[in-house]
Amino acid sequence: MSDVKIILNESEIPTHWYNVVADMPNPPLPPLGGDGKPVSPEQMLAIFPGPLLEQEMSAERWIPIPEPVREIYRLWRPTPMFRAYRLEQALGTPAKIYYKHEGVSPAGSHKVNTSVPQAYFNKMVGINRLTTETGAGQWGSSISLAGQMFGIEVRVYMVKVSYNQKPFRRSMMQTWGAEVFASPTDMTNAGREALAADPNNPGSLGLAISEAVEEAASRKDTNYSLGSVLNHVCLHQTVIGQEAKKQFAKVNDYPDMVFACCGGGSNFAGAAFPFLADKAAGKQVRLVAAEPSSCPSLTKGVYAYDFGDTSGYTPMMKMHTLGHDFMPPSIHAGGLRYHGGSPLVCQLYHEGLIEAVAVPQIATFEAGVQFARAEGIIPAPESCHAIRACIDEALRCKQSGEKKTLFINLSGHGHFDMASYDKYFAGELTDYDYPAEAVKEALKRLPKVAA
Ligand SMILES: *Cc1c(COP(=O)(O)O)cnc(C)c1O
Repeated sequence: MSDVKIILNESEIPTHWYNVVADMPNPPLPPLGGDGKPVSPEQMLAIFPGPLLEQEMSAERWIPIPEPVREIYRLWRPTPMFRAYRLEQALGTPAKIYYKHEGVSPAGSHKVNTSVPQAYFNKMVGINRLTTETGAGQWGSSISLAGQMFGIEVRVYMVKVSYNQKPFRRSMMQTWGAEVFASPTDMTNAGREALAADPNNPGSLGLAISEAVEEAASRKDTNYSLGSVLNHVCLHQTVIGQEAKKQFAKVNDYPDMVFACCGGGSNFAGAAFPFLADKAAGKQVRLVAAEPSSCPSLTKGVYAYDFGDTSGYTPMMKMHTLGHDFMPPSIHAGGLRYHGGSPLVCQLYHEGLIEAVAVPQIATFEAGVQFARAEGIIPAPESCHAIRACIDEALRCKQSGEKKTLFINLSGHGHFDMASYDKYFAGELTDYDYPAEAVKEALKRLPKVAA
C-alpha cells in the first residue's frame, strides 16, 4: 500500500484555470435581464470587477492564475489525494476508490479556491468592500478569509436558521474580520418585504442573495461576490481536477467515474471539467453529480430560465430549477439547498455529457459515517452525497465483479456540522423526496421568457 497518499509538490499547483466553454459542443446561453435581452457587461460591472466579468464570458481554454493568487493557494494546495484502501476493504469491492481532500484548506472546503481570486481581482480594480450571502457558513468563512488577506471589508448575509444553528461558523467569519447578519434583515428592501410577510421567516439562500445583491448594486464602493453557480467560480475550481489528473498519472491510473456533490455546482465543475476535456478528446470517463433527493434540481427540476435569487434582482439564467421561490424542507440537514445550479453544469447535463443522481438523506449520512470509520476523515454532509453515490457504484461492482476506478471529490470536512451528525445518530432525520407536484406548481411562477 505504498500509494495510500498521492502528493504533488508546490511547483505542480496549476498555472492556469481550465475553461470548459472551449470544449463545449454548444456555446453557453447568456444570462438575461428583466427585458428578456442578454444582460449587458455595463449592468454587470455595477456589482462585479472587470477581470471576473471577462472570465465569466470567456471562451479561452486556459486562463492564467495570477502569481499572488498561486502564492496563497500554496497555503493548502496541492491538496492530497488518497487511495481509500480501508473503505474498499470495508465494502468488499473489487473497485478502486480514490478521493481528493479539499477539506485541508484553512476554511475547511474547496470554496477558498475561488474566494481568493475573487478578492484579488476586486482589489485590483480598487474595490475595498464586498457583500455576499452564506447558507451553512462555508462560503461566508471562505470569503472572509480572502477579504482579510487582501484588505477588503466583507459583509455577510447569513441565512437565519444557519445563523442560529451554526454559531461557530459565524465566529469564524468574525475571526477573519467580517460583519455577519442574520438574513432576512431590516437593512434591505428584500429583507424588509420578507419580514413584513412573515416576521419569523427562517431565511433562504435565494433571499440572502437578494439582500447582498441589493446592497452591492446601491453602493459604488461595494461589489458582490458569489461562491458558486457562476462560470468564473466553476473556472477557479478547476485547480482540483487538474491536480487530480496529475495525481492519477503518478499511480498510472485513471478514473472510470468521477463523483462530486452538487449544490450550485462549483466543486463538481472543478473536479469534473478537466476530465471532460479528456472526454471531449475521446476518452471514456463518466462524470456524476450527486444531489439530495429533497432538493433535486438536476434530476427533477425543469431546464428553463429562472432567477438566481428569491426576489428576482439577479439576471435570469438557463438552469435546472425547482423555482426561485423554493424553500428547502426544514428536515434537510445536508446542505446543497440551492433551487438552481450552474448554467454550465446544467447545459452539460442537458446535453448528456454528464450524469446526475439524487440520494436520500439517511443513506447519505450512513455513507459519511462509514467513510469516517474507514478513512478517518469526517466528511462535510455535502460531501457525503458524493460518497454515497460512489459507494453505491462500488457495491454494484461487488455484484458484477468489475474492477472500476472510482474517484470522489471530498469537498470539505464536517467539523462544523456535527449537529447534523448528531441528528442522524439520534434517529431524527427522515427521508423526503421533493414532490413532482411542487415542481409543477413552481413552473407556473417561472419568469416568462420568449423562446
Ligand atoms: C458549498 C459547499 C458545497 C456545495 O457547493 P457547490 O458549489 O455545489 O460545490 C459542497 N461541499 C462543501 C463542503 C461546501 O462547502
